Order: sequence, then structure tokens, then C-alpha cells
Amino acid sequence: MKKAFITKEQVEEIVKKYPTPFHIYDEEGIVNNAKAVYEAFSWNKGFKEYFAVKATPNPALMKILKDCGCGFDCSSDTELMLSGCIGAKGSDIMFSSNDTPAEEYVYADKIGAIINLDDITHIDYLEQAIGRIPETISCRYNPGGVFRMSNGIMDNPGDSKYGMTRDQLFEAYEILRKKGAKKFGIHAFLASNTVTNDYYPTLAGQLFELAVELQNKTGCEIAFINLSGGVGIPYRPDQEGNDIKVIGEGVHKKFDEILVPAGMGEVAIFTEMGRFMMGPYGGLVTKAIHEKHIYKEYIGVDACAVDLMRPAMYGAYHHITVLGKENAPTDHVYDVTGSLCENNDKFAIERSLPEIEMGDYLFIHDTGAHGYSMGYNYNGKLKSAEILLKKDGSAELIRRAETPRDYFATLSCLKEYETLEAIMKDEGI
Ligand SMILES: *Cc1c(COP(=O)(O)O)cnc(C)c1O
Repeated sequence: MKKAFITKEQVEEIVKKYPTPFHIYDEEGIVNNAKAVYEAFSWNKGFKEYFAVKATPNPALMKILKDCGCGFDCSSDTELMLSGCIGAKGSDIMFSSNDTPAEEYVYADKIGAIINLDDITHIDYLEQAIGRIPETISCRYNPGGVFRMSNGIMDNPGDSKYGMTRDQLFEAYEILRKKGAKKFGIHAFLASNTVTNDYYPTLAGQLFELAVELQNKTGCEIAFINLSGGVGIPYRPDQEGNDIKVIGEGVHKKFDEILVPAGMGEVAIFTEMGRFMMGPYGGLVTKAIHEKHIYKEYIGVDACAVDLMRPAMYGAYHHITVLGKENAPTDHVYDVTGSLCENNDKFAIERSLPEIEMGDYLFIHDTGAHGYSMGYNYNGKLKSAEILLKKDGSAELIRRAETPRDYFATLSCLKEYETLEAIMKDEGI
């Protein structure tokens, strides 16, 4: 059974100051999980987790991870800036972007981030942008075809836009070496949200063999291997979660089998997990404000898809707990909807839940990654607040909710329309 990390009583206290909807994050859960990740890879001297900032771009949360030893994986200049805000610099930052604008390479280089090239053509592009090739550089690999694991789970790297082909990778290393690069990394992201302990070990096995071949054929020193993201979480209550300890041991075994005999036992293992680091430690708290009985039973809540897009976008399952009714029988079937004028704005479809009364608080689970961060302003909806539930049980506002003033802020034409300004004045915004 999935349990919310917050109670109805705690929410009733928080809403006195910060009304729903809001995303709330569990500091204790984040820290314990980050510690377990470091413990699982403690056999590797250079291990570092570069948290994928896109999953949860809030400096207060990033700071918690930084204090656990994490660096940051960025793919835009604002993500680089966010990392800079909390004092991450140099090799604390991985810049794994694609279709990269020149200015972003310039900025990443300026702050000393490790640059991970998505394509062979980016070698010249980077050199033109920053005037040289950095001493430490990484390349993203795409093996093409189908990626299979022993348990049958697979994904299709051949259909994805990322990375270089095998031949390009060998060529890229040669070119980079000639242009002055000294330390090399390999990066690959081949499957997403893998709820299996086999993904990293399978990927690691392939990348380790490739690394040995690359080092032998090109003479380049492979300094690190970046397993990237893709480690999943159990969104559904019947799924069994990953065991990071087993995953770490699986990678260790491949390391000892492949890299150590090749004299490459000093290679550092990097990860760029987003979802696994943060997903389960965030929840969206929203209030039931309407019930509707037509051809189906609907519960309307005060959050909508702009707060959490995954169900609308991917049909993703997010578990829902009705706070205070954790042990009540789930004998009602509802569609739980937001207010967007889009019929896919549903947090749950035909979900068995306890009877919901108006004013009940719903906890939508596992919104800690790719939740708030995917938000948008469709239908003029404003983005919610983010709150940190600290270890001592207190709640800290780490991002206020947007106001209409934020929504109008980028409308450079607004000055010309006095009535709108007047409305905003009347509304006190
Ligand atoms: C999205 C992304 C990640 C994180 O993926 P998760 O599935 O959240 O672990 C890591 N690296 C890169 C380059 C990404 O684009």
C-alpha cells in the first residue's frame, strides 16, 4: 500500500498559511534516499550523482541534494544558473544538452561545467563557440536498434534523437583528442522509468565493453562513465520498487568483470537520476471543490494539469490518497478532474477511492519529479506553490504560487492597454 508522507492534520495546518493546490516535498525522504544511493555506489571512488535539474528545478531541494554530495545535470542556461545559485561549480555540473544553442555552450564553459556532446557535429560547433576544446569532455552514445534486458523489458534507442552512432563515437574521440581533449567520458540514456534492478547493470555492461574498446583503439583516457537517468519508481501500488543496493552491486559486478581486468579500475561512475532521487518524495495536495453526477461520477479538484501534466500527457498513473480516509473502503469509482477546457485534464480515470466529500484533501503521489517542473499556463492557469516539509515537521514555502502579475509580466504590449492596467490595479495585483 502506498502511504502519503503527510497527514490530514498537517495539511489543515499548512493551508491556514498556504492555500491548496501545492506540491509538497519530504526532506527526510530525499536525504535518506540520496544517502542510500551513495552507499550503493561507495565501492567506486569517483562516484557522483548529478541530479537531473529538469526533474525538480528548485534551489531549496537542490541544496539538500548538494549537501548529500550530489552535483547537477543541466540542459539549459537557466538550469546552469540554478545550480550556480546554490554554489555548484566546475565538475559539480554536467551539461548534458542536445540541439544546444552556442550561448549555452559559452555559459557552461564559463562556469567550468563538464560538457557532454550530443552529436559529432557539435565538436566544431563547440570549438567555434568557446574558441577551443575543453580538456575534459564527454560524448553521448546511441547504440540504435532495440535495448533489451534479460527480463524482457525493452526500449527503442533507434527511434530517439539523442547521441552518436558507434562509428561516430570512435571518430569523435579521435578528433577531440587531436584538438587537445585529455579526459573522456561516455554517456548513454537508453530506457526511461525502468522499474527493474537490471537496467543500470545491463547498460553498464554495454558501456564498459565499449569503454575498453574505445580506450584501446583511440588511446583516449576514459575518466568516467555516465549511466545517466532512467531508474524508475513504482507509481502503481502493486509495483515493486527498485532496490538501489542491488543495482549498485549489479554495476559493481560488471565493473569487476570488464573494467578492472582491462586496467581501468580507476574509472569513475556517474549517474544523472532525476525521478529516482525526487519522484516519491513529492506530492500534489489539492482540495475537492465539486462533484458531478452525469454519465460518470466526477470529482473536481482545485489543481489541474498545469500542476501535474503526466496523466494528461502520457496517461500516467499517479496514486491518490484521500487524506484522513486512508483506511476507509475504496467503494466509490470516480474520475478526478482539473478545470482545464481539455477532456484529458484528469488525474485519475475510473479510480476506486473512498467516498469523497467536498473539502476533502487529496494527496496525489509521486509528483516530486517531472511534476511542478513540467507546468505551464494553459487556460491562464497560474502555477502552484512548492512547500518543503522539513525534518522537524515544519513547512517552509520554497516557491510562492504565481499571481496574475506574473502571468502578465511578459506582455510588453500591456502598457498600451490602460484598461488592463486598471483592472490589475483594482484587483491589487
Ligand atoms: C531527463 C534526463 C535525466 C533524468 O532522467 P530520469 O528518468 O528522471 O532519471 C538524466 N539525464 C538526461 C540527459 C536527461 O535528459
